[in-house]
Amino acid sequence: MPIYEYCCNACQGKTSIFVKRIGAPVSPVCPACGSQEMRRVLSRFAYHRSLATVHEESGDPEKAGPDYYKDPRNIGRWAENKFKEMGMEMPSQVQDMISAAREGELPGPVKELQPGLSEV
Ligand SMILES: [Zn+2]
Repeated sequence: MPIYEYCCNACQGKTSIFVKRIGAPVSPVCPACGSQEMRRVLSRFAYHRSLATVHEESGDPEKAGPDYYKDPRNIGRWAENKFKEMGMEMPSQVQDMISAAREGELPGPVKELQPGLSEV
């Protein structure tokens, strides 16, 4: 299911809208201030679409076995699916952690344990 990201013209707040299909009419309302003056933001949509392709190629984590998490783009997929099932938007802190992990950025304490990494 495609996700459109909208940015509020009034308060600059961002929200993600799930749409049933590409091109379906969407009437986004800002969850923060209630404004309907939302403009479409394209960058994250492209990101989500490429991620969906990765998911399709990687298949089911339980069937894929230990190699599954070798692709950093699969990190956080379980959490994403859980939030989706509950119909909730993932908290931005969690999103940030996951995208950082996917880009190879390890959480602080772990990073310090990697020899040589801090000197680069
Ligand atoms: Zn707003």
